[in-house]
Amino acid sequence: MIPTTCERETCGAELRRTGIGRPQRFCSARCRVAAHRARRAVPAELRGRERWVRRGDDKAPLRADTGRPASSTNPSTWTTHTAAARSSHGAGLGYVLADGDDVVVLDLDHCLTGGQLAPWAARILAACPPTFTEVSPSGTGLHIWGHGRLERGRRIRRDDGAHIEAYSSGRYIALGHRYDDAPLALADLSEVLEQLL
Ligand SMILES: [Zn+2]
Repeated sequence: MIPTTCERETCGAELRRTGIGRPQRFCSARCRVAAHRARRAVPAELRGRERWVRRGDDKAPLRADTGRPASSTNPSTWTTHTAAARSSHGAGLGYVLADGDDVVVLDLDHCLTGGQLAPWAARILAACPPTFTEVSPSGTGLHIWGHGRLERGRRIRRDDGAHIEAYSSGRYIALGHRYDDAPLALADLSEVLEQLL
């Protein structure tokens, strides 16, 4: 029998295996709720900006109030994190990268398989200072968030399998869930961007 522990990071209580039904993941309802909340957590800096939209089923951004199409270049179609989180339109949250905000996202495509990070993606993550990182809604990509500026969006493909896109404006990012115990803060990524691009 494999000993298992509660999946809430700060708990670690040992779980009893009954052998009946689905294996338990949390020691208590309290830990299940806390772990769920931690997965949905977003840095205060991003929550504090009116850059929020909803993610449509076809990945296109939607207005949180009406569910009609939103535009990544029209601020009147964006709203607060609170309003977007309360909205039931679409399938989740999206954040618009707006010019002049000094927020940049490295979008690492197809780098997660069964929870395993591809070597090229692990190298990029290791090169970044600790910063907010989340798993894309598809569960196979990683979004590394930070401070930095780009003149325009960039797309990089490398021989080692790397498929990276970098954006800092005119683009919306569909949010998935927080990666591991990634910090809820944005680090300066300008050096990484310089090396990468
Ligand atoms: Zn627990």
